[in-house]
Amino acid sequence: MIVGAGPVGAAAAILLAQRGVPCLLLDRYAEPYPLPRAVHVDDEVVRILQELGVADEFLQVSRPGLGLRLLDGRHRVMAEFRRDTATGPHGYPQANMFDQPDLERLLRARLATLDGVEFVGGAEVVGVSSAVSSAHVTYRLRRNGEERTVPAAAVLGCDGANSTVRGLIGATLEDLRFEERWLVVDGVCDRDLGAWGGVHQVCDPRRAATFMQLGSLRYRWEFRLRPGESIVDVQPLVAPWLGDAAVRIVRRAEYTFRARVADRWRSGRVFLLGDAAHQTPPFIGQGLGAGLRDAYNLVWKLASDDERLLDSYERERKPHARAQIRLAIVAGWAMTGGQDRAAAVRRVVLGAIWRVPGLKGLALRSTSPPLDHVGRDRRAGRLAPQPTVVWEGREVRLDDALGPGWATLFGARPPAPHLVRGRPIRVTPEFDPSGALRRWMRGRTIVLRPDRVVHAAH
Ligand SMILES: Cc1cc2nc3c(=O)[nH]c(=O)nc-3n(C[C@H](O)[C@H](O)[C@H](O)COP(=O)(O)OP(=O)(O)OC[C@H]3O[C@@H](n4cnc5c(N)ncnc54)[C@H](O)[C@@H]3O)c2cc1C
Repeated sequence: MIVGAGPVGAAAAILLAQRGVPCLLLDRYAEPYPLPRAVHVDDEVVRILQELGVADEFLQVSRPGLGLRLLDGRHRVMAEFRRDTATGPHGYPQANMFDQPDLERLLRARLATLDGVEFVGGAEVVGVSSAVSSAHVTYRLRRNGEERTVPAAAVLGCDGANSTVRGLIGATLEDLRFEERWLVVDGVCDRDLGAWGGVHQVCDPRRAATFMQLGSLRYRWEFRLRPGESIVDVQPLVAPWLGDAAVRIVRRAEYTFRARVADRWRSGRVFLLGDAAHQTPPFIGQGLGAGLRDAYNLVWKLASDDERLLDSYERERKPHARAQIRLAIVAGWAMTGGQDRAAAVRRVVLGAIWRVPGLKGLALRSTSPPLDHVGRDRRAGRLAPQPTVVWEGREVRLDDALGPGWATLFGARPPAPHLVRGRPIRVTPEFDPSGALRRWMRGRTIVLRPDRVVHAAH
């Protein structure tokens, strides 16, 4: 049973269905949330979309991002961090710009093609109880107020930042102390603005702002609001970006960005995923990505129904999500906080970015930190790269050759049988024509989990 058919709930339902696990997917609304939200995912996350069967369609509705430019209050470039727009180590551009409703539509369409998922829109979950090996969910149909209680082998609380499920299992949010109100504006222009194809961050503490192109004529602006401030007319704010062009504002919404992590992600057979488990300010564009990582991490464990594996979900995902939230807070502070002169901002921004562990890497690459607690080898917990390989006479991405289960990659010599888990795959020059996989393996035998995370390297 999945509560919430946002992107994370829909992704979890697809992953379950692909593994032959039937589920009921409930949402209080029938249609996806229409307001502007996520605009960026990295290449690791697109790889999850590949697993969901929507990566090629996603590439049609997204565009590679060139990276990040830091601007001063007069929009002069202070620094630039470029992303590789060509295919990166995971088989996709490192930064991908899109419109969240487009992605949600792709996920809903994919769901409709799969057997085993029953979607009920207009169903508000009002009760959850969990015993050791099963749970019960009570939901109310909005059309007539009828209440139904149904049993579930497991409940996935994917019901967003104000999660009902989180409250019902008694989990609370740890506040990582960040709260800012921002105005988010999407507009369609009557001509191309000729903007650089990455994210522009205006490091002006009087009016921190973000600007980027989303589609051919579609643009996103975000403006930090002062305490108590509410802006009715956005035209003066967007005007400096427009030149002679005219813009039609298609959406505007005020959001309070927060940094919070649930203290418990599991209670018996109930699990929290996505914004129900963690919320981040969007400065490094990782909120939705973190939710999709949750679903990918949990679903194969659920399908195997191994208690120890299920317990590892929170142990692995929580520190990862927390690390990314901390990076987002520091990035936000470094890019938009506190100084009043361009030179001072530049010094602080650049100094901060190079000093903070992880942020420098993040500024230059899209690699996320390895998962903790996976194994003792230094490679354990890291995502394997995904080069193109030749499998059954065809060029495919590595994950498509690996299939849905465990896999053991080895080189010249077959490993001892006790080291093999899942499908053994010999990595020869014919299989790996670019040599990328063999360079990464360095002659070792690598055991990969179903979520392509390295379990062991021998
Ligand atoms: C302005 C902004 C910019 C962002 N930019 C980025 C970005 O660039 N990159 C990125 O990765 N992330 C970004 N994010 C974050 C991203 O949008 C969220 O992390 C993501 O939408 C969370 O998905 P979710 O499925 O967990 O929750 P949601 O999308 O909130 O979905 C929850 C679903 O649960 C349903 N629901 C809630 N309660 C109940 C109930 N009791 N019963 C039944 N159904 C219920 C809701 O109707 C909803 O459909 C941004 C967010 C904002 C606000």
